[in-house]
Amino acid sequence: MSYRIGLDLGGTKVLGIVTDSDHKVVHRKKHRLSNRADISVVMDQISNVYTALVEQVDDEKIASVGIALPSPVDNKLGHAKHLTAFQEKELPVRDMLKERTGVDIKLGNDVNMATLAEYKLGAGKGVSSLFTFYPGTGLGGGYIYEGKLVTGFNSTAAEVGHVVIDIDGPLCKCGRHGCLEAIVSYHGLKTMLGEKLAAGAVCHIDPSSFRATDIFKAWRKGDPVLSELLEYQARALGIGIANVINITGVERIILGGTIYHELQDDLLPIIEKNAVKYAIGNGMDGVDIFLNELGDEAPALGASMLD
Ligand SMILES: [Zn+2]
Repeated sequence: MSYRIGLDLGGTKVLGIVTDSDHKVVHRKKHRLSNRADISVVMDQISNVYTALVEQVDDEKIASVGIALPSPVDNKLGHAKHLTAFQEKELPVRDMLKERTGVDIKLGNDVNMATLAEYKLGAGKGVSSLFTFYPGTGLGGGYIYEGKLVTGFNSTAAEVGHVVIDIDGPLCKCGRHGCLEAIVSYHGLKTMLGEKLAAGAVCHIDPSSFRATDIFKAWRKGDPVLSELLEYQARALGIGIANVINITGVERIILGGTIYHELQDDLLPIIEKNAVKYAIGNGMDGVDIFLNELGDEAPALGASMLD
């Protein structure tokens, strides 16, 4: 039996897992990061999680170690290119971790790692090409072609959150207007709702305490302001999917996001209708839009699969 270790660095935690040769998680360890931790302390903590996991198994039986990072990665240099959660650029993560652990840890972007795990173990099983959309605080995407993760010439492939849907649309964090992420994200929804309320609209949700459960409740009560926004998001997402289909022609789309899991019966038909409408020719024929199946461990799982 050989084992693999997958680590996942988030803004507030380090998660580590050990998997067996069937990709089954056999050990896990989570460490909460203190606020504003210095980056070298963060690296120490990743190394501590790694060490704690190695102690669970015979280290001679560890076939590979990978880490998912909230950043594009340069695997030649072993750098995290924009680790914005820690205000770092071109951070030599591989060297910093090698210094601490003595092993070469492979790097991957967290959304790409989740995509890889979903492809091998989750909603992507059975196809050779797929594209993922993960709306959350922002919107990340991942692209698998002929069974391989596509990261692009400059590690910017699959940045579907910054495909422009509406050039006069809301301002995105990247400085452009109308990116998919500026519309289809928690941040986008909150901003658009705030603008509507400022313009005099009446809604049952208070944007200062904007929880997912409040959104679901308001939708189910038929709140007109929120309904209009969620429908607008679903249409934008459908157009984003059509754009991806027009460029990549993948066999399957995988969609994450709490809202789409919770309100799938209402929102998926709107997404699908628009994907079909905006895809050229028969681009969407036989292409399923599935919800993601793996949870919070998906990035660590994907990282454990890096060769
Ligand atoms: Zn953008």
